[in-house]
Amino acid sequence: MDADVIVVGAGPVGLFLAAELKLAGAEPLVLERLTTPSEEPKSRGLGVLATEALRRRGLGAQLAEADVEGTKDLARDHGSARGHFANIFKIVPREDRPRTNIWQPELERVLAKHAEGIRILRGHEVTALESDVDGVTVTAGKTWRAQYVVGCDGGRSTVRKLAGFAFPGTPALLRTVAGQVRFAGAIPPAGRYAGGTFLHGGSMVGVTEPASNPEPVTAAELAESIRRVTGADVVVEDFREERRFGDQARQADDYRRGRVFLAGDAAHVHSPSGGQGLNLGIPDAANLGWKLGAVLRGDKPEAFLDTYTRERHPAGEAVLRNTRAQSALLAPGPHVDALREIVGEVLDLPEANRYFADLLSGVRERYDFPYPAPAPVGEHCPDLELVDADGRTTRLHEHTRTGRGLLLIAEHPADPRVDVVPVTNTGPLLLRPDGVVAWAGEGPLDVALATWF
Ligand SMILES: Cc1cc2nc3c(=O)[nH]c(=O)nc-3n(C[C@H](O)[C@H](O)[C@H](O)COP(=O)(O)OP(=O)(O)OC[C@H]3O[C@@H](n4cnc5c(N)ncnc54)[C@H](O)[C@@H]3O)c2cc1C
Repeated sequence: MDADVIVVGAGPVGLFLAAELKLAGAEPLVLERLTTPSEEPKSRGLGVLATEALRRRGLGAQLAEADVEGTKDLARDHGSARGHFANIFKIVPREDRPRTNIWQPELERVLAKHAEGIRILRGHEVTALESDVDGVTVTAGKTWRAQYVVGCDGGRSTVRKLAGFAFPGTPALLRTVAGQVRFAGAIPPAGRYAGGTFLHGGSMVGVTEPASNPEPVTAAELAESIRRVTGADVVVEDFREERRFGDQARQADDYRRGRVFLAGDAAHVHSPSGGQGLNLGIPDAANLGWKLGAVLRGDKPEAFLDTYTRERHPAGEAVLRNTRAQSALLAPGPHVDALREIVGEVLDLPEANRYFADLLSGVRERYDFPYPAPAPVGEHCPDLELVDADGRTTRLHEHTRTGRGLLLIAEHPADPRVDVVPVTNTGPLLLRPDGVVAWAGEGPLDVALATWF
């Protein structure tokens, strides 16, 4: 064996997964086709669950530093720090569970540093994959062998295709072209037009139109797209950070086929509306890493790995559902105009606003566990403030660097399976390494410990 687990793809999800595997005592090997990291400015925002996952591993300071510049860029580009649903910019972010404004290339630099010491082979494109009873053989120039393979190789995943995962879903309804633009002369007002949407706030411009129209990528095509949507002729002087994306929504029916797993965009693609891709992908990696580690150590049986799809597939489904709803609200036409007005009015209600904020941040996710327990069991735990018997205050993320399970409790004997942290200000909580609450004082602690550790 060349490694315990081969991770295909050194994007954000592959890098984070590799680090999680290492923390869980496994030996990962990452194969990446690009010779240097991508500088494509895709994601600009890391959602709540992804931010919390990275903070749990000690990356909070780097995220906070990047967030300063990222927040300035957001205000420059959109004129608002509010979140949006289908470009209705009214969502008030939750202060108690912050997200991070960080551009994807910067995030990848932070994660590459976090994964230092792990074998990452660049310029290695995976072209073939074969599973047998003992392991998996992966071809990337030469062949490599490991017990498991995880495809973190993005929306067009080769691993997904080679391993025969079904990828059902819906084709694109709308296409958007966006980027930093400088115009010479007048431009039409931002808004919804009969042919689509023209958005600009600061220097960031986006044009959304039905997917059947050609996809613009050059300055000339952008100008043509603006003319098609608004009827106005514009002169594009400078067009940078140009991006083009559709809103097809697809999800692998299972995230595991024997020894092969999918995580991140390889497992699910959807419109970037609301910036949720990494808020799914990073928690995928957080969910799978410690479980593979536990099975490789022999602490848990193979069947334990089936809980990965069971928990993460519904999370993906929820994002596909809300991004499809956003696409419906972005389509042109007077009927949709009316619906948008009503959704805008609903968003003025504080409770509804909070509902949408929670929906987009993923904090409403709750895993279905094999033992009955009320919330917060099954939910991702926020970065709680913890107080011990001497009145010393810490934050949860200060106890989670080791990647072990945590028992937060006033008094309890040491347990080799988890780290016991004495706390007096919160009820007892058992947390899995991915930050999910496994027990909260109701029902037997033994059952929860035996289920996960
Ligand atoms: C315009 C736009 C805006 C977005 N905004 C946001 C946002 O604000 N917030 C958010 O959370 N998400 C956003 N997203 C989504 C986000 O960019 C993706 O969810 C994220 O890139 C997924 O990470 P990943 O690691 O799964 O895949 P990728 O980032 O796609 O990484 C896959 C890696 O695998 C490598 N690879 C591919 N094939 C092979 C192969 N055969 N062999 C070896 N290596 C291979 C690739 O080179 C790449 O490095 C946005 C996307 C777009 C397009």
